[in-house]
Amino acid sequence: MKEMEDLIMKKQNVPELFGTNVFDDRVMRSRLSDRIYQSLRKTIDENSKLEEEVAEAVAQEMRDWAVEKGATHFTHWFQPLTGVTAEKHDSFITPSPDGGVIMEFSGKELIKGEPDASSFPSGGLRATFEARGYTAWDPTSYAFIKDHTLCIPTAFCSYAGDALDKKTPLLRSMQALNRQAKRILKLFGKEVKYVRTSVGPEQEYFLVDKEMFEKRPDLVYTGRTLFGAMPPKGQELDDHYFGVIKPRVTAFMEELNEELWKLGILAKTEHNEVAPAQHELAPIFSTTNVATDNNQLTMEIMQKVARKHGMVCLLHEKPFAGVNGSGKHNNWSMATDTGVNLLSPGETPYENAQFLLFLCAVIKAVDDYQDLLRLSVATAGNDHRLGANEAPPAIISVFLGDELTAILEAIKTDTPYEGAEKVTMKLGVHSLPRFSRDTTDRNRTSPFAFTGNKFEFRSLGSSNSIACCNIMLNAAVAESLKQYADRLEGAKDFETKLHELIKETIKDHERILFNGNGYGEEWIKEATEVRGLSNLKTTADAMPHLLDEKNKNMLIGQKVFTETELHSRLEIMLENYCKTVNIEGNTMVDMVRKNYLPAIEGYLGQLAKTTSIMRSVSDKVKCNYEISTMERLSELTDEILSHVELLEGALEKLKTCEDIIKTSEAVRDDVLPKMEELRKYVDEAEMLTSEKCWPFPSYGKLLFSVY
Ligand code: ADP
Ligand code: MG
Repeated sequence: MKEMEDLIMKKQNVPELFGTNVFDDRVMRSRLSDRIYQSLRKTIDENSKLEEEVAEAVAQEMRDWAVEKGATHFTHWFQPLTGVTAEKHDSFITPSPDGGVIMEFSGKELIKGEPDASSFPSGGLRATFEARGYTAWDPTSYAFIKDHTLCIPTAFCSYAGDALDKKTPLLRSMQALNRQAKRILKLFGKEVKYVRTSVGPEQEYFLVDKEMFEKRPDLVYTGRTLFGAMPPKGQELDDHYFGVIKPRVTAFMEELNEELWKLGILAKTEHNEVAPAQHELAPIFSTTNVATDNNQLTMEIMQKVARKHGMVCLLHEKPFAGVNGSGKHNNWSMATDTGVNLLSPGETPYENAQFLLFLCAVIKAVDDYQDLLRLSVATAGNDHRLGANEAPPAIISVFLGDELTAILEAIKTDTPYEGAEKVTMKLGVHSLPRFSRDTTDRNRTSPFAFTGNKFEFRSLGSSNSIACCNIMLNAAVAESLKQYADRLEGAKDFETKLHELIKETIKDHERILFNGNGYGEEWIKEATEVRGLSNLKTTADAMPHLLDEKNKNMLIGQKVFTETELHSRLEIMLENYCKTVNIEGNTMVDMVRKNYLPAIEGYLGQLAKTTSIMRSVSDKVKCNYEISTMERLSELTDEILSHVELLEGALEKLKTCEDIIKTSEAVRDDVLPKMEELRKYVDEAEMLTSEKCWPFPSYGKLLFSVY
């Protein structure tokens, strides 16, 4: 009863709890003077220059607010290219003449920080002698308090102005899209303050028992299991998906929600996923850079809260072979400051024409820059998922659903659309038939699906920062819109030109449209052989395309990256891929030599001893089990030894590769196949060895021990 009351209390308090640790609009409005508030609002909404005096006033209020809430430190919170967030805490204290301290925080400290950042990856962008770089406040993402620290979301740049983080190019890409979308809207007679992209990222993760986790060096060092025989039960019964949530997990989710709500994160949906021990959390969508910050925070807090509940949250894309891995769905749309979703079909024929133009801009963008979208989700971890019949293939295609496809087909061929009252569709004149949302969201195998009023990019890995794919998506769509605007501005007959443009886009880019089963073998054949779509299977295949002429031209042209930044990013992403696999390889060697081989050897000794004792008692005993097991295990130890030596050789050879491209190719062609081969023998040995002798918890224990 008491628990029930507590629960009701908690639930009623959500509105009160929500955003209590965020310096959000409500706080700004109530604490800042009207003039300062309006000026800051203009900076946030319209990107206008931030006045020094405003920064000073905001800093004072932020400090007072943070100190009232028990904060003692502040930090510029940023997202270096490591993919995780970084923070360096400074306390507010300043000595006062009387020997005590006062709490101080200036406008300068708010706007700019100079972290010693020489250890962050820069891909050669920053010589160590000018290692510092600086962080700059992003006023469009609210400051918040975490662990008694006021966290100020910032961008991170080198002194030469090159971006050293994921946020700077993301903000630039949002600006690029804003610029071009406004040009288009103007042609439709609409003056808006801004167009922004919104994102709702659905986040998958695993929870495993902390004690089990700590016994597995592979999980500790690499976030995934590198060995492990299949348990008798996996996900085949589909009994976990949307199943009843276990009490320990419920307790975790409750606390997680509260922590997220306090940080103003709109955590909304939670459920069990397909694999045992797998779950999902989805927030309500928000502006892309805020959604990105919030997703980084969500991942961090998930891990923290899980530990408090005696569990570990695994964000790796493929923690367990043989059961589904974890992804992230990036639900994306474009909206005006007045809240009009540009991917929502409108009420009037004219609005429908506008909707179709924006829709076509996305289709064209995805087709023209398939490789950029693919490489934006490329990591060593995600390579295990894409194309493995659990996630979309590495081939990028767009799902529109039957109705919308039929409409586009009708426009393309100037034939009547069957569903409507059989008139030939002329844009701007005839209404689009109303299509029901339900029919658009059935296909789960498509990497890029239209779901009624947004696109859902489903290829992201669970640990990816959503910044990467949104940078590419925003930039590519900005480029389509730019080309459209260039052609439509000054057109004599706008409607005819518009109709032509849409028809042309459909003709030129229909190869990217695919409503069928993305997991099927036939699709891979058709996509690559008939349609000529790219199929970049691994990070090593995908990443180098970042520097393809067409991609460079677009990204530099849209002012999203500079040439040097692109080079540095390629370097860093490939380095990360190679280092990740290298650590995995070394971990395998370590586990095999120190644990698996000695364990199997121990068991062999037991078997041999038993056999010889049994035989000394009676010469009638056959010892079939002991002998056949010994024979196979002994063969397996020989195989394991020779394969671990092969892997060691491959890892050693990596050190001699001339450059990062060569290294990444060796990782793909040499190291990874050898790891897979080695694993097979160890996993077979696991099935033959007494559990008592086996050095690490089994898959069964890892996947089913949280109740
Ligand atoms: P699903 O059917 O995939 O579970 P939902 O329709 O519930 O999806 O939405 C999934 C995510 O998409 C949520 O985070 C939601 O807030 C987000 N979303 C909904 N509408 C939009 C939009 N217009 N732009 C961006 N994201 C959106
Ligand atoms: Mg979804």
